[in-house]
Amino acid sequence: MTHYETIIGLEVHAQLLTESKMFCGCSADYADAAPNTHVCPVCMALPGVLPVINRAAVEKTIMAGLALNCTIAEEAVFARKNYHYADLPKGYQISQYELPFCRDGWIEVEAKVEAEVEAEAEAKRVGITRAHLEEDTGKLVHAGAHSLVDLNRAGVPLLEIVTEPDLRSPEEAHAYLTRLQQILRYLGVSSADMERGAMRCEANVSVRPVGVGEFGTKVEVKNLNSFKAVRQSLEYEVARQIALLEAGERVVQVTMGWDEANGRTVVQRTKESSADYRYFPEPDLPPLVVERAWVDAIAARLPELPDAKAARFVAEMGLDPREVAVLVADRAVANYFEAVVSAVRNPVSSRNRVSKYAPKTVANWITGELFRLMNAAGVGIDAVQITPAAFAELLALVDAGTINVNSARRALDGMFESGRRASDLVAELGLAQVSDAEALAGVVAEVLNRYPAEVASYRDGNEKLFGWLMGQVMRATRGKGNPAVVRELLDRALNVQR
Ligand code: ADP
Ligand code: ZN
Ligand code: MG
Repeated sequence: MTHYETIIGLEVHAQLLTESKMFCGCSADYADAAPNTHVCPVCMALPGVLPVINRAAVEKTIMAGLALNCTIAEEAVFARKNYHYADLPKGYQISQYELPFCRDGWIEVEAKVEAEVEAEAEAKRVGITRAHLEEDTGKLVHAGAHSLVDLNRAGVPLLEIVTEPDLRSPEEAHAYLTRLQQILRYLGVSSADMERGAMRCEANVSVRPVGVGEFGTKVEVKNLNSFKAVRQSLEYEVARQIALLEAGERVVQVTMGWDEANGRTVVQRTKESSADYRYFPEPDLPPLVVERAWVDAIAARLPELPDAKAARFVAEMGLDPREVAVLVADRAVANYFEAVVSAVRNPVSSRNRVSKYAPKTVANWITGELFRLMNAAGVGIDAVQITPAAFAELLALVDAGTINVNSARRALDGMFESGRRASDLVAELGLAQVSDAEALAGVVAEVLNRYPAEVASYRDGNEKLFGWLMGQVMRATRGKGNPAVVRELLDRALNVQR
């Protein structure tokens, strides 16, 4: 069978987090509002109204463009995209066509390449053709024989980001979306929440026999509102196109929808071309001159982006890149991690001074124990009531030998639930570690007396029993024995009398 190569380009719409809509003063935060309560003559398209450009939306578009390594236009023009649909009151959408705010950018995504080393992750550059600003449409609500229209969403600013046909597999498309979402969230320009419709994706996909220079005919898949839908629809579509070509048929350029329930793509319409939209410059808005000083000021305010943060964590703290990827995936988690590291380094009280706690230990506690608690409770980092200083205090207690790691986990459980301090919980739950050799030697002797058969078997060479006996001693101390002291005492008791 012929081998085929997959070509994918993505068009993503992200809702910008602005207070007001794109061209009027209505609140853009309509999520929980009753239908048609966030509307005015402008976004309802009553006759005689004029749009006014939302400065914050333009700023956020430029921020995104800079983060996506785009060239920012010196002059940008809004254009009318004409089409008729019941959720579009004006009969056209104000968008951008020939002169978008941002063009010719790129971002790097983790791509799995099939190299000699299997599944080796490698950074891959994906070209950004353009990023432009437009307005959202209203929403149709189908109720029995009727369709109702809700214009709360009409006129909400949307950032559209279009890639070059650079993606080569559904996995790469997924990786691109993940990275794009991460960047938009770091910038704070969009919640980029796919499940809630704040980020929507259209995927263009074609296949060609390996070695052929030209791209195959592409199909556009719309209505992708989850990462899973993007991946599954692309996998389905690639297989469908290959099957057509193998059967000697042609792929027809169409727009398809993803039928989630049945796991297949369905034709929505034959593809319209841009000529069908009769784009022309929006006569109600002047071309927008984008002053360089403004762009520079926005650039100066850009936050540290995920790649730069990850590189800094690796360089400054000697962390493993894979571990860092988990920490920087969410900006709030990365900030929390840094705050704990800094609290460990600059403790509020000298009693909390830590001698050997490296950032790596902090990273382990956060990605291990804290994430476990967050997952179990189904909450994000924002809901965690343990302050970085309180976290640092817990680590100091372990470092000082006041509690062992087991007890620290139990203390963390309590801190997570109640927000109380580690030292209070240690006192209340009696978690303080027993390091007193005399007390522990008594427990060791007791355990050896209780299990003579196991002791004999150990002394006959069954070394695995050491760990088991160690466990019995720890259990007898109700987990509070200092493991290092217990190990030494047990070793002495078992081996000296041999
Ligand atoms: P259209 O004019 O149909 O909107 P564009 O050239 O504007 O097409 O591209 C739209 C999207 O489709 C872009 O993301 C682009 O990278 C992608 N694309 C273009 N050609 C192909 C192709 N042959 N296969 C897959 N994706 C493609
Ligand atoms: Zn309005
Ligand atoms: Mg196009």
